[in-house]
Amino acid sequence: MNYDCLIIGGGLAALTCGIKSASSGLRTGIISGGMSALHFSSGSIDLYGYQEDRTIVYQPFEKIEDVIRQNPVHPYRRCGRDLIREAVLFFKNELARGGLELYNNEESNHFHVSTLGTIKPTYFSQRSVFNEEIKEAFRMRPKIALLSFAGFRDFFPKLAAANLQKSSLFRHLEIVTGEVVLPMYTKTARNPHEFRSIDIARIFDSERYLTNIAEQIKKASQGAIFAGMPAFIGITNYNKIYHRLRELTGIFVYEIPTLPPSILGMRIDDALKRRFAELGGEFIAGDRVVGGEIIGGALDHVHTENHGTTRIRARSYVLATGSFFSGGLSSGFNSIREPIFNLKLFCEQERNKWYSPRFLSTRGHPFLAYGVETDNELHPFDQEGKTVKNLFCIGAVLAHYRPIVEGCGGGVAIATGYAAAKKIIDTGKITG
Ligand SMILES: Cc1cc2nc3c(=O)[nH]c(=O)nc-3n(C[C@H](O)[C@H](O)[C@H](O)COP(=O)(O)OP(=O)(O)OC[C@H]3O[C@@H](n4cnc5c(N)ncnc54)[C@H](O)[C@@H]3O)c2cc1C
Repeated sequence: MNYDCLIIGGGLAALTCGIKSASSGLRTGIISGGMSALHFSSGSIDLYGYQEDRTIVYQPFEKIEDVIRQNPVHPYRRCGRDLIREAVLFFKNELARGGLELYNNEESNHFHVSTLGTIKPTYFSQRSVFNEEIKEAFRMRPKIALLSFAGFRDFFPKLAAANLQKSSLFRHLEIVTGEVVLPMYTKTARNPHEFRSIDIARIFDSERYLTNIAEQIKKASQGAIFAGMPAFIGITNYNKIYHRLRELTGIFVYEIPTLPPSILGMRIDDALKRRFAELGGEFIAGDRVVGGEIIGGALDHVHTENHGTTRIRARSYVLATGSFFSGGLSSGFNSIREPIFNLKLFCEQERNKWYSPRFLSTRGHPFLAYGVETDNELHPFDQEGKTVKNLFCIGAVLAHYRPIVEGCGGGVAIATGYAAAKKIIDTGKITG
């Protein structure tokens, strides 16, 4: 197998990079070990959400400019302001071509609601979380309903309502709670493994039970304009089901991400993979790259679990394997490694320096900023400090940023994925 661009990963960074690369006509492959952080995410894309002191960032692009000025090693700095804007727009357009539209509050962040009823700043959301109509309706200080499905164990409306009312945005709003019953689930509701968000979402990929559930939502909402519910509006047929539900209820059904797998995140995964395939990209699912050989400062080939000793070759390679969470970084008792190529890391090897003494420290833990060290071109270094010139590193495997603490995980994955693809496309033009 010979590629122009071979990406090791399968998450947001890999798919953004793959779509950009394939859209320019390069033969592009993605080898993906399995699920990514998208399957666990809110399904909203954060560009920059929090200041150092944990106060909220309202203007993410302004904050990114500060970060670029002040932090010479932050991944956003490696991309640059103009490219980040270009990447974000590209991502939005390509996702829409894959069938999923994202909405943003012009240049500003908006808020989305978590399962516990806390609110979080973000930049892009799906139409059941944020759009202009929702923004206008919320300005009218509406009555809100929080509803769950009878027997569902991953969302508790009363708890979420109590937490929401601690926020200044919701404090003076009337919030009622209630539940709806899924007719086909009354017999299995005692088994928690048969009643997760994903099981409900599968049912609503079709319209079969939509009229029934719409009637129940209307009734349980007691005249509210918004009904916040655990995300359930299908995965493959989301646009149609969302509009139909709106027609039938006259209510904004607001989706709240629940425990994994995240329906909202799966929609992004689904749309990106569809778009990558449409552009001719080759997605090799369920295989893991286990090693490769670096010869003369360049990666010569990689091999995978399933392909054994077969050498898979490319002109350029991209490492998008995520952080500890996805196995892009691994830790032993007193060591941290990048497991495929043993690349140079930014990290402390002594275990007692990895974490803060306070578990819920607002500054997070030091290990959250650990990752692969790169030069400005996103090329990593081997253990002797030599640059691997045809390998690029993107997304959560990178060092020097804290995706959750800064609220910038999605933005960094998209920006670095796009930046690496552009560099690969440009190298192809130079070498002919
Ligand atoms: C639980 C969680 C929730 C998050 N929620 C949000 C959110 O709501 N919004 C937001 O903006 N950011 C969120 N983030 C931040 C997140 O880091 C980024 O948004 C982004 O999704 C990271 O993408 P990535 O592609 O770099 O890595 P990942 O999504 O981690 O993907 C890495 C991929 O590499 C694959 N892989 C690993 N090793 C190999 C191998 N050897 N061979 C082949 N494949 C391999 C994995 O299977 C996986 O598919 C969240 C992070 C976590 C951990």
